[in-house]
Amino acid sequence: MTDLGTQGTGYVDSYYGRTVKAPASRPRLTHDIDCDVCIVGGGMAGLATALGLAERGKKVIVLEARRVGWGASGRNGGFVSAGYSLGLDDIESAVGREDADALMWLTLDALTLIRSRLERYGIDAGPMRDGIMKASWYKNADGLKASADKKNERFGLGLEFKSREEMQELYRTKRYHEGLLDPTAFQFHSLNFTNGIADAATSLGATIFEESPVTHMDLSGDKKRIDTAKGSVTADQVVICCSGYIGHLHPKLSRATLPVGTYVVLTEPLGDRLQEAIRAPYGTSDSRIANDYYRALPDTRLLWGGRVSSNLEPRNLGQKMIGDILKIYPQLEGIRAEVAWPGTMGYSVHKMPQIGQLQPGVWYNQGYGGHGMCATTAGGEVVAKAIADGDETYKLFAPFGLDFAGGPFGPLIAQWAYWGFQMQDRWQAWRSN
Ligand SMILES: Cc1cc2nc3c(=O)[nH]c(=O)nc-3n(C[C@H](O)[C@H](O)[C@H](O)COP(=O)(O)OP(=O)(O)OC[C@H]3O[C@@H](n4cnc5c(N)ncnc54)[C@H](O)[C@@H]3O)c2cc1C
Repeated sequence: MTDLGTQGTGYVDSYYGRTVKAPASRPRLTHDIDCDVCIVGGGMAGLATALGLAERGKKVIVLEARRVGWGASGRNGGFVSAGYSLGLDDIESAVGREDADALMWLTLDALTLIRSRLERYGIDAGPMRDGIMKASWYKNADGLKASADKKNERFGLGLEFKSREEMQELYRTKRYHEGLLDPTAFQFHSLNFTNGIADAATSLGATIFEESPVTHMDLSGDKKRIDTAKGSVTADQVVICCSGYIGHLHPKLSRATLPVGTYVVLTEPLGDRLQEAIRAPYGTSDSRIANDYYRALPDTRLLWGGRVSSNLEPRNLGQKMIGDILKIYPQLEGIRAEVAWPGTMGYSVHKMPQIGQLQPGVWYNQGYGGHGMCATTAGGEVVAKAIADGDETYKLFAPFGLDFAGGPFGPLIAQWAYWGFQMQDRWQAWRSN
């Protein structure tokens, strides 16, 4: 793993790393220690689990290889919305209506929980703004209205349909047709949120060790033993939450994980030029499978994400991402990148999170893909309730197993799939025009 210019904070050089509010460091594990539950991985999946357990009175230790939120959780678009990487219709095809609704409700409840935790624990994850717009790349008014009606009826989301004329007021591009605004979704500073959840867990007695990569685990006995270079944890239960950064840590989970590279750029402040292109205050993503997503910060910088690649550290990333912006908003010609960065998403082949128990006392909570900022809080609660209360909600995820994700060929398969999605998007755009 390279550091990509961490500027002394221990974080990758990014908008988030440059504005992080976190302790200068947390301790490394340098001794042996015992606890109820050991969490491996200090991203949002691990920390939501840790906080859920600490809130239920468990003695928790989190071991993070680098820094809290160093992975995907502290590098992303900062969009927080209900649902999963796999869409509702596909979930329903896999598990039926009742379980699909139950899975969706877990994330709707998580949205509420995130808001209440922000308040309860005094977490500053600003700037925060409500509303995320899905801008349709294709002419699809009837389809969008039907989808909004269905979700509003089932979940009371209050999704708002926007006509092409309304969209053109908000977005000065010919690329978009109609839109759907989700008023329950919002944008925030994901790295500060992740650190805030870590501090909340600590305030309830959890202990978090950073720069303490787990090198080996003996999960066979009643007491599990988790080793790092300079100390070990013994625990009754272990939760593995390493996602796209898991490497070879656990054969079964590693084999089921597809690490997928994706990217974000932050532009320089655009001043009045922002209004020439984007007037919407919302986070925005378009409806292509291989889509772009973006949001304007209050100081008129544009945070823009997209692309998928097997190359986790591409050259000239800022320039390439600016090129993507200009494809939608050519009037912004000449804008410059302030900083661009990569991140690795951990996908499963079925695109649903992998949540469950491998054997008594050994849990996993990973694979949120590109839609994890809300769903990790849902998954954390599910696992925390299972461990602390014997709750069986986690079984809703059982149909989505630990299928082989391609091993060393996985990233290449993802790259080819992405190119295939781009072709599909072009074909659909051509048909709809
Ligand atoms: C560029 C980008 C943009 C995205 N945009 C959005 C968005 O706008 N909205 C959204 O909902 N989702 C988004 N996502 C997805 C979202 O960020 C992830 O789904 C979510 O953060 C996953 O959290 P996690 O805890 O499972 O994984 P991570 O945050 O990756 O955490 C895994 C952690 O495990 C640690 N680890 C690995 N191995 C070990 C070990 N051996 N010992 C100890 N620790 C270890 C890693 O260091 C890492 O910190 C985006 C992702 C990326 C990369």
